[in-house]
Amino acid sequence: MQDLTQEILELIRLAATDLPPDVELALRNALEQEQPGSAARGALETILKNVEISRQNSTPICQDTGTPIFYVRHPEGWSTRKLRQQIEAATVEATQRAFLRPNSVDSLSGVNSGDNLGGDHFPSMHFEEVEGDALTIDLMLKGGGCENVGAQYSLPNSALGAGRDLAGVRKVVLDAVHQAQGQGCAPGILGVAIGGDRGSGYLASKEALFQKMADANPNPELAALEERLTDEANQLGIGPMGFGGKTTVLGTKITTLNRLPASYYVTISYMCWAYRRRRMTWHNGAVDYR
Ligand code: SF4
Repeated sequence: MQDLTQEILELIRLAATDLPPDVELALRNALEQEQPGSAARGALETILKNVEISRQNSTPICQDTGTPIFYVRHPEGWSTRKLRQQIEAATVEATQRAFLRPNSVDSLSGVNSGDNLGGDHFPSMHFEEVEGDALTIDLMLKGGGCENVGAQYSLPNSALGAGRDLAGVRKVVLDAVHQAQGQGCAPGILGVAIGGDRGSGYLASKEALFQKMADANPNPELAALEERLTDEANQLGIGPMGFGGKTTVLGTKITTLNRLPASYYVTISYMCWAYRRRRMTWHNGAVDYR
């Protein structure tokens, strides 16, 4: 079996230091919406300068390089045990080379492992066998501050007047953005999962964040709700880093999961402006990064 440790190391380097072009474009478009001389515009200018410097110098876009979350889709016959070992080896080397900050601490003692490993759950890895010969690895680096403002609602929610329908979904998503205020490093991107259980809802809300900014929701009702939520969130006046302004959210991605009749969860994963995600595709020895 092919050893992809160095290719995965490059995937981590790109994710940590080179913001995807669609995210950078969204930030540049947001900058144009803000008043010259405003704190909001200043914050976006600083963010974009930082993005350029990080790319040039191969240094992390943010000091918090987050939780590495890997989704591996592999052809038949690949060993997930060996792939896990390769991802762990690449993660250790990425930490030694300062592409990643040592971020994995023992939950009880607070002791940092120093190498971004820790038990079976750090980094976070998901494996799926797929048809064909190509192997893809998607990597997201999910910051702690934005993770802290994620939220899950069980509908109906009488305090918010939110029922078990898309109108109720709209109310709770806007409530989550309002509760977050500038925390979580706005402008953010919202990953929303409707349905599932408490665990699958959080997983699916993060998986929604692997989409590109321009990806259209195939469900027209959800596509319209995504656009409305982004517009309405941007009318809350929270703005970049909470400084006020027109840009609180860059985009919204909604997905759905079947649920039990008894439950109706809406789960929101908030991704900060440092929206670090990359895909590596390996096919017949050739590697491509997007
Ligand atoms: S929330 Fe994002 S931008 Fe803010 S400190 Fe964490 S990783 Fe950095």
